[in-house]
Amino acid sequence: MNLEKTFIEIFKNAPEIKARAPGRVNLIGEHTDYNDGFVMPIAIHHEIVILACPRRDRLVRLHSVGFGQSSSFSLDKPIEKDPVHPWSNYERGVFSEYLKRGIVPGGADMLIYGNVPVGAGLSSSAAVEMATSQAVKGLNGLDLSGIDMIKLSQDAENKFVGMNCGIMDQFISCMGEKGKALFLDCRSLEYELIPFPSDTYTVVIMNTRVKRELTGTEYNERRGQCEEGVRLLGRKVRGIQALRDVEINDFNMNKAVLPEKVRMRCEHVIKENARVKAFVGALKDRDSERMGLLLTDSHKSLRDLYEVSCRELDILVDIAMAVKGVVGARMTGAGFGGCAIAVVEKGREKDLEEAVLKIYPEQTGIIPEIYISEPAQGAGIEKLK
Ligand code: ADP
Ligand code: MG
Repeated sequence: MNLEKTFIEIFKNAPEIKARAPGRVNLIGEHTDYNDGFVMPIAIHHEIVILACPRRDRLVRLHSVGFGQSSSFSLDKPIEKDPVHPWSNYERGVFSEYLKRGIVPGGADMLIYGNVPVGAGLSSSAAVEMATSQAVKGLNGLDLSGIDMIKLSQDAENKFVGMNCGIMDQFISCMGEKGKALFLDCRSLEYELIPFPSDTYTVVIMNTRVKRELTGTEYNERRGQCEEGVRLLGRKVRGIQALRDVEINDFNMNKAVLPEKVRMRCEHVIKENARVKAFVGALKDRDSERMGLLLTDSHKSLRDLYEVSCRELDILVDIAMAVKGVVGARMTGAGFGGCAIAVVEKGREKDLEEAVLKIYPEQTGIIPEIYISEPAQGAGIEKLK
């Protein structure tokens, strides 16, 4: 599709900049972010693109190609949610957060286009926020750091849209680099970009295409159980602010004080943090056997201890593990649906795709979706004229 032509047709004006921001998938480190722990996402090739031009007045006009709808608002009034076009709330949230920071952007026309599957756990929402933040920055010549853009985008989702997500999605969408995985400390926000051996391996994302509605309550329950674990372990071990601070030995010596479910949740988080750190070493050593074991252990732990997998995710992981050339596989994201990933030897990804497309529908009655992606480049802006 010719986006520039579409822009001119809709807005009767030529776009001046193009902003883009990718979706993401988490390689390892699940349910660790809100425990002040470690995660390791990559940016993926699926992305949101925004073409934009400035306006002389104080109006922002948005048009989403995907939704085939427009929505507009004035920057002179408090920005409100649009109940008729809820897709626009992410962009509205970004403008609102700029204003809250005392930065007054000019009006703009914006065309939003994207191919990040919506609601699949690949964070199309963070990609929309980050692309919007980038577009506003570019149009207004603002001097904002990566971390400013990340926090602004996260605030748009937390405070304006009202989804209480962590910082990982916006962070990787902004900071991702081609060929690299992001090792992120969710407490200090220190990070390291670790080369992913893209010459030898690729990441296959397998979408269950199921999304269970109970995720919200289950998620809050898990968070509560982690907090209870911190409280109870904190009576035995000094200096524990979050599960991130609990050493495995201290956990093993004191786990008898924990109710069974709390113990299971804590064990997952504490060991998952250790797995992320071990995965950094395995990536650096290009040790595929170790990478595979860590991925598979992560899945078992999410399934049996954290209890956030589901039949469809387990089926995808089982199918993947039986394919030659698959290094390891696990569910990714919050769980109860969404996607699983597999790290696969290059050249074998088509074998995996074929196996999933054949077996998964037989076992579930659902046609899955498959996306193949090496670590992609994070957000950026480009001038069009
Ligand atoms: P995800 O797991 O993909 O982040 P969310 O429910 O958090 O799912 O966010 C999805 C929302 O992001 C959509 O409902 C829509 O508002 C916005 N969005 C995603 N892709 C696009 C797009 N191409 N154009 C406009 N808005 C989009
Ligand atoms: Mg989202």
